[in-house]
Amino acid sequence: MSDKKHISEQQYPFADIEAKWQTWWAERGTYKFDWNSPKPKHYVLTMFSYPSGDKLHMGHWYCYAPTDSYARFKRMQGYEVFEPMGFDSFGLPAENYAIKTGVHPAESTAKNISFMREQLKKIGAMYDWDYEVVTSSPDYYKWTQWWFLLMYKRGLAYQKDALVNWCPNCQTVLANEQVGADNLCERCDTPVERRKMRQWFFRISDYNQRLLDGLDTIDWPEKTKAMQRYWIGKSEGTEISF
Ligand SMILES: [Zn+2]
Repeated sequence: MSDKKHISEQQYPFADIEAKWQTWWAERGTYKFDWNSPKPKHYVLTMFSYPSGDKLHMGHWYCYAPTDSYARFKRMQGYEVFEPMGFDSFGLPAENYAIKTGVHPAESTAKNISFMREQLKKIGAMYDWDYEVVTSSPDYYKWTQWWFLLMYKRGLAYQKDALVNWCPNCQTVLANEQVGADNLCERCDTPVERRKMRQWFFRISDYNQRLLDGLDTIDWPEKTKAMQRYWIGKSEGTEISF
């Protein structure tokens, strides 16, 4: 490292400087969002962290740093910026982590969240922690349940039998990306079975034309729109020439 050009800790004692200014911001509430501010509002939302591992890694900053830079840019342009942070902490990844470590998911999730929150604070992003969202908290998932019931009552949520990836050793369903090319479970190397199970589905195909039409009205890169069209997967038949 010594012959490479990089900023040394003598030139920029980051541990001292970061700690000093982060404390200064926290004490003054520099990044608290003010609903009553006369400034125009701007909402910047980034992907929430998954506490299915026990800590964040460098890859997380690849998506958080540009979003936070953008939020700061809007703030400098005179906007009252709302940039919340939260934890996407429910479901299969949390359960798998619990199986792996033998700790109850409620306990491990709470522990991982408090560690990650400290990590997130250290990057010095302008998150307003008063608005933190934790999707495994009953305060949050009561809304998921409310929304699910709306879908169900309108016939948009239904059950049917479908094939899933099943690991007989872990006794769980696996997502496609958890099954290796050799058809082995990524956790325990057991051959994965295709098993028919009763599953919940949403009738999103009822909306495919609206979703496709909507794509024409938004300013997204063409490549991203193409991925979305492919994912929507509307097909009007196939023409074959013999
Ligand atoms: Zn397994």
